[in-house]
Amino acid sequence: MSTVLDSLRTDLGALLGEANLITGGDALTTLSLDYYWYSPALKPQLDHKRADLVARPATVAEVRAVLAACFKAGVAVTPRGAGTGNYGQCVPLHGGVVLDLSRLDRIHSVEGGFVRAEPGARLAVIETAARAAGWELRCYPSTWMKATLGGFFGGGAGGIGGLRWGGIATGDTVKAITVLTCEAEPRTLRYEGPAAMVALRTFGTTGVMVEIEMRLAPKLDYDQLAFSSPDWGRLLEWTDAAARRGTWYKRQAAQFQWPIPSYFKPLKKSIRENEHVSFLLPIQAQTAEVLASAAEAGLTCIYHRPLADPPRPPFLSDFTFNHTTLWAMKADPAFTYVQAGFTSDFRRQFDQLMARFPAELFLHLEWGANDPTRAVGPGASPEAIGVGGIPLIRYSTEERFQEILGYAAEIGVTIGRTHTVQLGEVGPEQTAARHALKYDVDPGGLLNPGKMKSFPLNPFETAKA
Ligand SMILES: Cc1cc2nc3c(=O)[nH]c(=O)nc-3n(C[C@H](O)[C@H](O)[C@H](O)COP(=O)(O)OP(=O)(O)OC[C@H]3O[C@@H](n4cnc5c(N)ncnc54)[C@H](O)[C@@H]3O)c2cc1C
Repeated sequence: MSTVLDSLRTDLGALLGEANLITGGDALTTLSLDYYWYSPALKPQLDHKRADLVARPATVAEVRAVLAACFKAGVAVTPRGAGTGNYGQCVPLHGGVVLDLSRLDRIHSVEGGFVRAEPGARLAVIETAARAAGWELRCYPSTWMKATLGGFFGGGAGGIGGLRWGGIATGDTVKAITVLTCEAEPRTLRYEGPAAMVALRTFGTTGVMVEIEMRLAPKLDYDQLAFSSPDWGRLLEWTDAAARRGTWYKRQAAQFQWPIPSYFKPLKKSIRENEHVSFLLPIQAQTAEVLASAAEAGLTCIYHRPLADPPRPPFLSDFTFNHTTLWAMKADPAFTYVQAGFTSDFRRQFDQLMARFPAELFLHLEWGANDPTRAVGPGASPEAIGVGGIPLIRYSTEERFQEILGYAAEIGVTIGRTHTVQLGEVGPEQTAARHALKYDVDPGGLLNPGKMKSFPLNPFETAKA
């Protein structure tokens, strides 16, 4: 360890107590990494990345003091929630300090349809508190048992509830974000409404979030249903219609091509050989209607359990979004994933992908609202709902992987940036706003350096890449 790090270590130990400063061993490794290994491209890039120190503050005052000390020492700082990101968002590319925010987990208030909480509050804990007060999360990732609010705002996209409300960046779900700057004397800045969006999903590069305010939805009671059919098209027609039906209130709709359901080991008793499966989470008041409609369409209901309130397993969401990928990778480590968006011509796109890559690509679909104001209820429109998903790809070589992605793009499928550690490019106006924010909150370029590729200042680039 260099003299600078040695002296920083002494300062942080005095500040946080030795128990809250991790300097080596398995804990340092665990807290330096996330689920980057989902990606065959990122695995070799990030396997060896480690922080020099992990600081575990418990209060905003301690976070401020850690940031001031790191700024003084000129050491990189990478914020971390629960470390469940899939593309190395919280993996330090240049060592330095990982700032573990999981101890800042206070829920300050749940009232008037808003939650105000510290970044380390876990989403399932927030859901429990919200439900007790008559509210629920608008959307949450399938990792909600572990994932933190700060990590969801820093690196997440959406999840369960997205069929009704869209993702975290859709509509007005984000109310306000309060960050600390990384300076000699860190300032507190609060961004509200549309102004907060520039600080959303920036991988901890634009300030350390210390308080988040988020809109909630009125609480509803849900059932968890799974339907099975050997006929992909028949299941798709019903699931798509159910997802878009404006009179049905539901939290999630997903569909999985066989053999994906065979990887869901805990559901083994329910899964039927060679059959595709759909999940639907309707409100309990409409379950009977949903079941009758599915039976009429010739589908078999293979699973029917309420979503418990307060939340407790079993959760069908444990098999959705990137949990689907996890179950598949457990069965066959050659699997990886891509995030895909389909057009209104999705049936043709599915047929083409299935015909072209029958042994390499398997469809996992998730429906979501692109316009929450028209997703359900009076004025609802089927066009307010879109279909995307996280298809599984059996990876052989990078060349073949790119060939599959190239073909998908050729037939109009949008592929997300999930195999890079860098923030996605945005338009010129947004880039300018992002850079202005970055210069203001992080003048030394110390916050998660290397992740905002377009930002010109990275003091570590040549020093320790
Ligand atoms: C099995 C599996 C399933 C998943 N399913 C979903 C899903 O359904 N939907 C979805 O969107 N994602 C999903 N993910 C990805 C991930 O779980 C989510 O993005 C989650 O919200 C990340 O939360 P976290 O606390 O683990 O964040 P981390 O991984 O710790 O951090 C994420 C990013 O946020 C930054 N960050 C964390 N805290 C702060 C803070 N206080 N201030 C500033 N920056 C901060 C970090 O630097 C990092 O860049 C899944 C991942 C796995 C492994």
